[in-house]
Amino acid sequence: METLRPPDQTSARIIEAYCELLDSPALRLRFIRKAVARCQDEGVGQGARWPLFDRFRLRKIVVEELVPLLPAASKVPTSVRIAMTAYRFRVPIYAASAALSVGLVGIIAYLGVQVALASYATPAQANATAAAVAPSGVVLAADLPQYTAEQIWLVEQGEGYEVYSNGARILTEFETDGPARRFYGFPKNAETPDAAVERVGNPIGIVYHTSQSHIAPFKEEFNDKLQTSARALLDFVARRRLYNYVIDRFGRIYRVVRDENAADHAGNSVWADDEYNYLDLSGGTIGVCFEAEWRPDTRLAADEINEAQIYAGRVLTAMLRSKYGIDDSMCVTHALVSVSPSSRLIGFHMDWAHAFPFASIGLSDKYAVETPSIAEFGFDHDGQFDRAIGEIWPGIPLAESRLVESAAASGKRDTDHRRDLQQRYRNFKSWLSARDVEAGQGE
Ligand SMILES: [Zn+2]
Repeated sequence: METLRPPDQTSARIIEAYCELLDSPALRLRFIRKAVARCQDEGVGQGARWPLFDRFRLRKIVVEELVPLLPAASKVPTSVRIAMTAYRFRVPIYAASAALSVGLVGIIAYLGVQVALASYATPAQANATAAAVAPSGVVLAADLPQYTAEQIWLVEQGEGYEVYSNGARILTEFETDGPARRFYGFPKNAETPDAAVERVGNPIGIVYHTSQSHIAPFKEEFNDKLQTSARALLDFVARRRLYNYVIDRFGRIYRVVRDENAADHAGNSVWADDEYNYLDLSGGTIGVCFEAEWRPDTRLAADEINEAQIYAGRVLTAMLRSKYGIDDSMCVTHALVSVSPSSRLIGFHMDWAHAFPFASIGLSDKYAVETPSIAEFGFDHDGQFDRAIGEIWPGIPLAESRLVESAAASGKRDTDHRRDLQQRYRNFKSWLSARDVEAGQGE
């Protein structure tokens, strides 16, 4: 199945608002997917020249997709009733419209759009929307619904579960503890590790994984097998304290290692925000594992990553980001951060080396971001890696061109500059190992 391109910010908000009228997550997901697919097919919500008409077309799609999913006896809000009534009488309304002269309609529409544009879109807003959706298909997280750190709260807690106000339902029967979190940020321009700042308290990022476990076909006749596999995976993950969360193939979200403890999920890894470089991300990030087998051709499909899992990943991400104030820039996949210190290559772990549905999860595309392990610490990639993922992600050449620029700026040859950066990584690692030894001795 092809990955859907999300519509623009306003359209996404309208779709999400109507989504609230559906009780079940499955129906909501079906509604969102159908509405988004139709928007894509019919070119609605893609930064149209005539936004006012675009909105009319969007409402039509929303009503047509929503009405069949609403329970027959449900009480619906006035706005939807009006839209539904208008939709029922669309033929006479269209007929009445057609009776008007084409010229008159054209003039009124043109003036209406001009007035609407002047009243609600400043040039800056219009540019921002265009930048968010138009040029490269890259959607800025700030322009996706639910991605600001809006308040999501714990609604209810019971034996084995928690329910959050955004629909996230966390199952806790496999919950376990783990080592305390311990994490350092290295200021971006720091040559030596002494300037490191200890980041205490809340996790500051999320790293997404796949379990790479055996995957049965996602069909009813394999139901028992699917259930058994999920439990075996959860047992294994809990015993080894591998992830903070596991999303099974039915989209059930299990907390395994508690948020305040570090799960052993990221290994040797590098990522960065605007201010700091971070090494060995397990200490400071939440590990979220999708029960799935990542392969180079993984796409959103029932036998690989299915819709229920994407929905679960989305609500879990929103809940965690809201709870801990986690920035979009720090939500990333394992392959994007994983490195091998001995070979000085990236991609030691390959899960989600591409095809992670960032937009569907409500995040900006980190494949498009300059890869910090290369730009900051001179890591490389080899032919085996390139062949394995088919097409390298765009952040790799971006990071490599910055390496060349920074070598030129410091008057060094590229190879020397890269070697110095690799040495910097080794110094930082030794410094971290010394901290681990100290911590170990202190316990
Ligand atoms: Zn992984």
